[in-house]
Amino acid sequence: MTKYDVLKKYFGYDAFRPAQETMIDSILSGRDTFGIMPTGAGKSLCFQIPALLMDGITLVICPLISLMKDQVGALNQAGIHAAYLNSSLSAGQYYKALSYAAQGRYPIIYVAPERLLTESFQDFVSCVKISMVAVDEAHCISQWGQDFRPSYLKIVDFLAALPQRPVVSAFTATATKEVRDDILDILQLENPTMVTTGFDRGNLFFGVMTPKDRYAAIRNYLETHPGQSGIIYCLTRRQVEEICGKLQGDGVAATRYHAGLTDEERRENQDDFIYDRVPVMVATNAFGMGIDKSNVRFVLHCGMPKNIESYYQEAGRAGRDGEPVECILYYSGRDVVTNRLFIDNNRDNQELDAAALALVQERDRERLRRMTFYCYTNECLRDYILRYFGEYGSQYCANCSNCLTQFEEVDVTEIARALTGCVEACRQRYGPAVLIDTLRGANTAKIRNYGLDGNPQYGALARTPAHRIRQVLQYLQMEEYLSVTDDEYALVRLTERSQELLDGTASVVMKLAKETERAQERETGRKRSGMKAKWRQDTALSGEQEALFEELRALRLAIARQEGIPPYMVFSDKTLAHMCLVNPRSEEEMKSVTGVGEFKYEKYGEQFLERLRECGAGW
Ligand code: ADP
Ligand code: MG
Ligand code: ZN
Repeated sequence: MTKYDVLKKYFGYDAFRPAQETMIDSILSGRDTFGIMPTGAGKSLCFQIPALLMDGITLVICPLISLMKDQVGALNQAGIHAAYLNSSLSAGQYYKALSYAAQGRYPIIYVAPERLLTESFQDFVSCVKISMVAVDEAHCISQWGQDFRPSYLKIVDFLAALPQRPVVSAFTATATKEVRDDILDILQLENPTMVTTGFDRGNLFFGVMTPKDRYAAIRNYLETHPGQSGIIYCLTRRQVEEICGKLQGDGVAATRYHAGLTDEERRENQDDFIYDRVPVMVATNAFGMGIDKSNVRFVLHCGMPKNIESYYQEAGRAGRDGEPVECILYYSGRDVVTNRLFIDNNRDNQELDAAALALVQERDRERLRRMTFYCYTNECLRDYILRYFGEYGSQYCANCSNCLTQFEEVDVTEIARALTGCVEACRQRYGPAVLIDTLRGANTAKIRNYGLDGNPQYGALARTPAHRIRQVLQYLQMEEYLSVTDDEYALVRLTERSQELLDGTASVVMKLAKETERAQERETGRKRSGMKAKWRQDTALSGEQEALFEELRALRLAIARQEGIPPYMVFSDKTLAHMCLVNPRSEEEMKSVTGVGEFKYEKYGEQFLERLRECGAGW
């Protein structure tokens, strides 16, 4: 069999993605291989397909039990013998699996890193041929990464102890240079083929909104996307409880996940979500790694995460199947304060001395600032993220809320000067709210007590709406004309550039959304309908096909329930959508649908064909 045969027969796909082919060829030629590709790019196939073509066994090292279960489940579903060895097995099951493995039953074995150096596992590897060790989620080996697993360091000793060095391959979606170098150094990859694909994930729509009532905005989103599966991330446990409780009270099927729940409850809720028993998960960032569910259709953030890395990782849990999904961040100024408190109170790393801790906190504050600017910017959001990771975007992606908003260039020099003048005159002692009140000439006790009614800029912007002044202030921060302190007081301060505004040499032009639309959106959190129509155009199913999709989804759910597996393991959303487009009538046509391999056809093909015949009357 060739790699193409394997791809079609087991996975049901017609073509490789370019990077996949490079990596598979490299591994098959016996070279170490290192793949850095974003989530959903299809890294698993890069080691699974060579594993099936090489003689001997491929060991896949994987940090989480849930990930192993998911991948082994998917392989078994495709008709490939694979097994996992980890602490979820009883002693009896473990030894049974090992003895099958020793007989050569499994070309692919997933193993937890803690197991590698145990006696029983060492015995096993001494009597079989290990042709490849694939290290998945390889960033776990780096202390710089967010998911450092000390047990990953055992991989090196394990490799050294093998009678013959196998091909070593490593895969990750985390790109920073430190992590990359760590993986190369620690794993001691030998002259590896390096494949890096861009970080962009075109199927993710990015949006930022600042609704007055975030709950109402989220509620509205769910209402307009009924039945879709998605995650709502919150900053705190309390917020999770509150939002999940309200949603349930409003009749939305939602469940929750955070570190304050018992292990059992967490597992149950996670399973409810993965098995599509409950479509909506409300969670803190504790919910994440190992969620390989491919049909997550949206990720909403009720609150801004602590940095862009976290945001991209969390948002990226949507759309692993490549279908269009929406990632929307509902921002409020208070998020900055909450995150600052997290940073100030972060004692995660006990080993740090005071100086090192201060450095780490400074770095975290800088990252938080960059996250905040993501919420402020009127430029392409995708571009902002890609630039953060050191890539160049196109500056216009046509698939983010900024690219789809009509902006106009507005000269805001007058507002900028008044703001800066106000900050100078009050000797940099106040935060944004007080400054805005002063500029607008508010007649409150607070303003009088502070003596701000005597500020030369008092009332200077009486006719400018408060939100506009705030926008300009945010823009001035991004452009470093002003800064805001990182402490809880958030005082507005002058910078080196302030003088250019004070002495009248600089003028400031910024992009602002055309007023009416934006104001409406702010009030309701409702997205402009035209926006959606635009980006859905390419992939959209017609009304009739949409109905058919729902039929197929129902059939999928029934099968999944019967077999006790997550629905996306029967067929992915992408496969179902393609099925609606192709509308197959025969075995051959059915097998031309992406994701329908031979084994899956045998298992499910007839049932789906039948359902299509029943309801797919011609179009
Ligand atoms: P990663 O590990 O890089 O996040 P996965 O290996 O989980 O990504 O793959 C993501 C999705 O892409 C899976 O649903 C997988 O079946 C699909 N996929 C992978 N390769 C291809 C391909 N060549 N053609 C179509 N779909 C593919
Ligand atoms: Mg993966
Ligand atoms: Zn864009």
